[in-house]
Amino acid sequence: MNITEYRTVMNRYEDSERIKQIGPAWTFTNSEFVELGCKRKWSYGYLMNIETTEKGDALLYGIVWHVVMEHALLRMKNTDTCITKEEALELIEIVGRKSFEDERESIQVIEEAKEEWIENCLDRMKRAIVGWCDHWAILHKEYEIIAIEQTLARPILHPQTGEIYSPKTYIIEEDDCLYPAGINKERSNLIDVCIPYWKVGKADAILLKRGTKSLYILDHKTTSQPTSYERKFLFDMQLSGYCSLLDYEIKHGDMTYLSKYEVKGVIWDLCHSKVPKPPEPLKSGKLSTAKAKLVPSWIYEESIIKYELDRSDYEEHLEMLKTKADPNYFCFLITSINENDMTRSVLEDYSTACSMHELKTKLINADNMTFQYTASRYPICQQYLSCKYSYLCQPNVAIEDINETIKHKIYWKKIENNTDYDIINSDQLGLPF
Ligand code: SF4
Repeated sequence: MNITEYRTVMNRYEDSERIKQIGPAWTFTNSEFVELGCKRKWSYGYLMNIETTEKGDALLYGIVWHVVMEHALLRMKNTDTCITKEEALELIEIVGRKSFEDERESIQVIEEAKEEWIENCLDRMKRAIVGWCDHWAILHKEYEIIAIEQTLARPILHPQTGEIYSPKTYIIEEDDCLYPAGINKERSNLIDVCIPYWKVGKADAILLKRGTKSLYILDHKTTSQPTSYERKFLFDMQLSGYCSLLDYEIKHGDMTYLSKYEVKGVIWDLCHSKVPKPPEPLKSGKLSTAKAKLVPSWIYEESIIKYELDRSDYEEHLEMLKTKADPNYFCFLITSINENDMTRSVLEDYSTACSMHELKTKLINADNMTFQYTASRYPICQQYLSCKYSYLCQPNVAIEDINETIKHKIYWKKIENNTDYDIINSDQLGLPF
């Protein structure tokens, strides 16, 4: 089997030029890394490739917000100017609406209620994006956007030998593709090959701090409690992992054109997902200036305009809202990342690749009993209410009886013609630098 005649096809990265470049590889993302916390969940999702369309409201909102952000930041990157509120509102109307329509099947309400559900979400986004523009205007003065949705990849190296981790694994050949063996009863079909492991991620944005050589990776987050994120941020593994990928890409990979810059830190762009509606006037015809229920300043301003009130009566209250309320709706968390953080990520990625490989190998022709003890549950599972596989995770559901829709998250496709990516250097199966 000449594996170099194949290229990697990976879920959510189908169009990525970078993935085509790296040749045949076992690529894994931060999401897969996190799912491995529960061996059973990982086995359902990444070994048995069980496909679920179910997405909660918060996740759907986050997905669409992310798409809108991608368009907004791309527009800012191209002109190095901040997006206007009018442009941002137009993006919600066009890009946001289309994204919700694309996700229609995953919306968890009855068909007749879906239209109203989408309109509510679009209204919430419109209220949020006005504040997001003000918020970004401050960051944009200090940072230039240099890349959006940037795919990053790094090979997994053995910590002692420095060689790329390429253990022997089992695959199945079907037509012009190779598929992971999964949990396979038909051992006779299996082909053994050595495939290198790579870690892959997509940075929402890469920023350059103006007047310096420092690069930052930015990630959008939507939450109903932005202020509670500070502690989570300290222990976030995703972005320090992305920094180590970017560091590799700059030093040895596909982004050597950034070699005069250094990876210095990460930024979370936190946005509240439930910005309140503009307040209604009191019986007196004025707006309340009580401090008990604060709304963000730009929402309060909307009410002043809508009800044709005298802005000068509310100057003081608006100033107070800017300092006391607005930071509860949007904030940037910024921290520096150093060599130690990145080295730790590299070592942990190696450990993850080894654990995945071990599980894949042990489960290759597992029966139900073997599955129970090899793909054991998350210790003291607290996730069953949100776990998309909890309906399968019951003692009376044997793996032989699981008959769900399957979608391969990774496979390898035979190269058909001589495009640039089709000539994969066999060196890529060894050290890539
Ligand atoms: S319900 Fe809990 S134990 Fe079961 S697969 Fe999901 S996370 Fe793992």
